[in-house]
Formats: sequence, structure tokens, C-alpha cells
Amino acid sequence: MSSAVAAARNILTRLHEVMASRSNAQAKLNTVVEVIGECLDSEVCSIYLLREGMLELFATRGLAQEAVHVTRMGVGEGLVGTIAEKAGMLNLAEAAAHPDFSYRPETGEDKFHSFAGVPIVHRERAVGVLCVQHVEPRRYEEVEIEALQTVAMVLSELITNADLIDEDDARALSAAMSGPQQLSGLTLVKGLAIGAAVYHQPRVNIEHIVAEDTEAERSRVIHAFDKMREQIDRMANQAEFGVGGEHEEVLQTYRMFAYDEGWTRRINEAIDSGLTAEAAIERVQQRTRMRMRQIDDPLLADRMHDLEDLANRLLRIVSGQIGTAASLGLRSDAILIARNLGPAELLEYDRRKLKGVILEEGSLTSHVVIVARAMGVPVLGRVRSLRAMVREGDPLLLDADQGLAMVRPSAGAVEAFEARFARSRERQATYAALRDVAPVTRDGKRVTIMMNAGLREDMSNLSLTGADGVGLFRTEFQFLVSATLPARERQTRLYRDVLDAAGDKPVMFRTVDIGGDKTLPYLRHDDGEGEENPAMGWRALRVALEREGLLKVQARSLIEAAAGRTLNVMFPLVAEPWEFDAAKTVFDGQIQYLRGQKKTLPEAIRYGVMLEVPALAEQLDLLAPKISFLSLGTNDLTQFLFAADRSNPKLAERYDWLSPAILRFVRRVVRGVEGHKVDIGVCGEMGGRRLEALALMGLGIHRLSITPASVGPIKELVGMIDLAELQTAVSGWLDHPPADMRATMSEWATARGLPID
Ligand code: PEP
Ligand code: MG
Repeated sequence: MSSAVAAARNILTRLHEVMASRSNAQAKLNTVVEVIGECLDSEVCSIYLLREGMLELFATRGLAQEAVHVTRMGVGEGLVGTIAEKAGMLNLAEAAAHPDFSYRPETGEDKFHSFAGVPIVHRERAVGVLCVQHVEPRRYEEVEIEALQTVAMVLSELITNADLIDEDDARALSAAMSGPQQLSGLTLVKGLAIGAAVYHQPRVNIEHIVAEDTEAERSRVIHAFDKMREQIDRMANQAEFGVGGEHEEVLQTYRMFAYDEGWTRRINEAIDSGLTAEAAIERVQQRTRMRMRQIDDPLLADRMHDLEDLANRLLRIVSGQIGTAASLGLRSDAILIARNLGPAELLEYDRRKLKGVILEEGSLTSHVVIVARAMGVPVLGRVRSLRAMVREGDPLLLDADQGLAMVRPSAGAVEAFEARFARSRERQATYAALRDVAPVTRDGKRVTIMMNAGLREDMSNLSLTGADGVGLFRTEFQFLVSATLPARERQTRLYRDVLDAAGDKPVMFRTVDIGGDKTLPYLRHDDGEGEENPAMGWRALRVALEREGLLKVQARSLIEAAAGRTLNVMFPLVAEPWEFDAAKTVFDGQIQYLRGQKKTLPEAIRYGVMLEVPALAEQLDLLAPKISFLSLGTNDLTQFLFAADRSNPKLAERYDWLSPAILRFVRRVVRGVEGHKVDIGVCGEMGGRRLEALALMGLGIHRLSITPASVGPIKELVGMIDLAELQTAVSGWLDHPPADMRATMSEWATARGLPID
């Protein structure tokens, strides 16, 4: 056992006795300062605690006893106030030489030179300060500081159990964590929300700090490490981990930390010093946090987040506090805080209570964002240091329209925000009024505005928005929300319900698009390995054609559900015409079978294909005669055109949907189906944005399937354009692209009074 561990253990054993004694809190604190002073051979040991916003001397050995409950310092004032404000430690050979030193004559501290102090932290806030002082000038050794930090942890338990500090005081302490803070990020789903921060993975409450049985704690931690390593090794294939091209990099860092012997050793040492497994993990984490704070390096800060994630994971395993905020019961008006989420994880939340999401990562077309859009939940992404700035329960104003969030807002900010919120609701009301107005351009062209959906609940949006139908029903959503492969009966029921809800309006069912960032634990590739490049991997129709049973079941469910009506079905990620033929053959087989069973068949089946793989554009002449409709899935299409992973936050702003390359490609596809009876449309996120929609309409796309929230704004736009004029303008821009297409188009639209924001 090292001397640091032995010193801490000695103090902890004695403190344990003090805390178990029946004396009152003040008497306990008096004994504590004596014990620490003695064990660390210090002339002075003092405890300052927060009371009414001030740090008050609560107990001391060595300073004048008359100063107890008299000496008070403001947060940020003097050495003690600085420690509390920064939640960091100080170790000084000559206290008076420090710029923050403030002399208090009543304490009689003039004869002491050296000074070391650490914050007493409760729920990540400094609620007090523990310090020691010596007559002779010397810096304290690392061992001593570590012992002080361990003791500070135990003190925090004593202090909160004895109600010595006031929670409100604690909350008001640190300026950085208590005052209003503005966070900026990338708008992923527009919208406004007022609520309180809820961590997707709640922080663990540590209930016991001092261990009863060190051996038992040691084995708990070993077991937890084993379990965590197992989880990390499994993570590659799990949506739980979130999504993204950074996946591999983050995973590697996780692995590195999970197997880091230094980390395990320090935790074991903290257990040896007498802490419980939970307290030991937290103790080591606090120490790392303090060290990292002194190094100003953004790369290291990112790694620190990884380590925080992992330490939190370890804490959750060891304490058994495993659930996410979804499983623990969500408070109303929740604004979810997470590093990243998988689409399935988001779907677990009650959409009536979830008002917004703020992510440290995230990108515009990742599936979690698409799901959020479908749920009507605003999302702000790519907020740096999010989890360091926001605490569980903090009041939040989320303004995803402007890419901002305000943490702990002032009353004035709340008032201004509420006024904006009211205006935004008015705007929504204007859109709602367009519900029964057909989208027709000024020169008389009827444009079809459909909506995207994925769950039964989404269907109510059809009548709310007045959309012309569902242009993309993502059937895989039900697979994502289910723990096991949905059985045929369940699928049939869903498709039938969806068709019933749609009434006369068409629904284009897309067959499962699983894989990529939509992984399912119960549906893995045979080799069980994670893919290096899942977006271009074993997904969508590729899975369906290989696992033919899956497609057969879906085909049968769709055909049965559409008995006596028209069935529109489309296949995702088709790269070559033969894939369409193979998928259609599966449907033909099911029709044959059901006909044999004398079942009622659909009145008509219209087959469509999603154009998401650029290669398909080169063979449209071969495909077009076989299909009734073609939908450009611009989310995937543009990621492949630009070789820029749609889930990778680093690439989120890599290209613009208004790039001439994308628009010229779309023009080529439109021309490719000319002369064929193919209804061409766009069902990617691009179509839901006003400038992009303008460009698409200018290219001859007259069917857009978009997120329900965009139906009103796009309808409003359609009613204001002169299509012929727009088509001429777009054609000119594409023949001779301006340097900045977006700027040129905005100017053009603004000059005509078109709403484009
Ligand atoms: C697309 O790729 O544009 C699309 C609509 O499909 P998804 O977003 O579900 O991949
Ligand atoms: Mg797609």
C-alpha cells in the first residue's frame, strides 16, 4: 500500500468513527479538523461551508476559535473563495504571495505561510472548502493533496446528511454554472421549446462514500470493469452508442480507457483508502477533471468527455442505476441532453413530454434527427462542451430556429423568448389555415406536397397539415421500436391502420431500410462483425434480398393490408435494375400465393424505386419502363455524390444542397425519365427547406414528400411562385453556375417577396 493510500486510509478510518458517533454536526466538524490536522501533521486545518451565498468558517484547528462563524468570504474572494469558485485546488508555499490572497486579521493566520485547499463538492458544485496551513513555507506533497481530496468527499456526505448547506446556496455558487449561459450549435430540427434539462443517461447519485468492507468493494469494481469492457467490445454493432462516422475513433478511445491499467489502479487505490466502489470511481474522476482543467487543449477536452462517459457508465454498472431517462419516467417539459442518440433510443421517449433535444454531436440527415423531425421535436446539435455547461434540471430555452439555447435564463430572456414563441405559434396558425388550400403556383401548376411518416401516430399529421398523402412511409421505424422482429400479423395491422388513416390519400410504403445507422440487435450480418462503412454496407434492399424471409413477410403483410385498395410500394437503395426485378419477384410470389388462398388482393399495385445510389441514374432508361414512380432520396444520394457520410458531424456542413453538382444531377435524372410514365418526386430532407424546394421545383420536380412541419411553409411558398419564371431562372443558373448559388437564389427570391427562411 502506497503512503498516500495509507495516509488516506488512516484518516478515513478515524473519520468513519467520528461520523458514526452520536454527536451533533458541529461537534463532528470540530473533531474532523482535529483528526485531519493530526494525521497530516498540519498546524491548521479549517472547513469553510457555504451559507447564504458566503463561505463561512465552520470549524478550525489552529486558527483563532473566535473567528468560527464570524469569518466569511464571498465566492471568488481570497484563496478560499477562489477554490470554491473554480472548484479547483490550490497548493502554495507562500499564501500571501498569491494574487487572490486576502488577509483576515481575526483568524490570526499571519504566522502561517504554506496553504493547501480543496473544494468540497456536492452534485458537481463546490459547497465548501477544506484547507490546511503550515508555519514553514513548503508546498504540500501530492500524497497529502490526494488525502485531502478523499477527505473532502467524505465531508460532503457528512455535510449534506447533516443539512449543513442549503441546496439553493449550492446552486447559486459558481458563476459559470449558475449564471445564464448561451450555447450555440447547429440547427438540426427547427423549433422552439421551454423546459428543463434531462440527461439521457442520468448521473449516478452516490449514496455511501465510506466502505464497510474493502474486499467486497474491490470485487464489485472488478466485476463492473469486466462488464463495461464487454459492453464496449459489443458496442460497435449497437445503436445504443449513437451513430456517426466518428464512431470508430470514439470507440477506440473508449477501448483505450476501458483497458487502461492506470485508471483501474487509481480506482483500486481509492478503494484501499477506504472508499466505496462508487466513491472511488468518482474520486478518481474528480482528480482527473481537476488536472485536465489546467490543460487548455480542445483535443484533450474531447478525450475528457470520453472518459467522463466511461466513468459514468462504470458508475451506473456498479451502482445498478442503469436506465436511461426514458425508462426512468420522463418529467414533463423535458429537454434531453446527450452526446448523441440512436434513432431507437429517441423513439423510446414519450413525445408529449419531450420538448426538445440538445446534442453534443449530430448531423442534419442522421436518422435520429429524422426521427426527431417526425416527432416534431426541435433539435440543436454540435454544441461544444454541452455536458460541462448544463446540469440536470437546469431551466432551458431552446431556440433551434437560430441555433441557440439559453441555460438558466434570466427573467427578461424568458419573457422575450415567450413573445417569440407566441409569434411562432401565430405563424403555425397561418400554415394551419393553408390546410385545405391546394398548393397551386401562380401560373396554375398543381404541385403535390406529401409528408413523410414512420409510425401509426404520425398519421394524424395528414389531416392537420392537409398533405396530399404519405410520400415516404419508413416501415423500419416499427422494427426500431421493437425488441424483436415484428411478426407478420403485427406488420399487417400497422399497414392496414396506416391505410385506413390515410383514407383516399396515397401512402408509399418503403420496404425496410435497416442497416447503416439503423442497426438492430436482432438482425445482424452473419459474420457478426461491425462494418467499417455501414452507410455503404449491408443495408436496405441488400439485407432484404439476402434475408428473403424478411421481405416475403413484409410483402405479404403489405399486400394483405391493402386488400381492395391501391398499394404503393417502393424499394430503397436500388443500385441496379436487377435489384428491383428481384424485389418485385418476391412480391409477385406472394401475390401468387395469396391468389391461391383466395384472398382479396389489392386493386392495383404501383411499384416505385428510391434513387439514392448515383449508379442507378446511368440505367434509368432500363428501369423506367418497369416502374410507376421514382423518389429521389436526397439524404443518401447527396452523401454518396459528395462522399460525405451523412451521420458524421464533422461533415455536416461539408456541402450545400444547392450545389450546382447536386442540382445538375437532379436535372439529369428528371430528363432521364422524360417520355416514361414515371411520377418523379423527392422524399429527402432537402425538399422540406424552402430555397431547396424552390430549386427542385425549378428543375421540374412537382412532387415533394417532406416532414409534416414543412408542409405548411412549402405550401405557402408554392402559392407565391411563378413556375415558368422559376424554371427559366434555375436553368440559367445551372448552365452558368454563379459563384454562390445559395446567395444568388436568396437574392432572387427576396426580390420577389418569397418567404425563404
Ligand atoms: C433518403 O435517403 O433521402 C431517404 C429519404 O431515406 P432515409 O433518410 O430513410 O435513408
Ligand atoms: Mg435513404
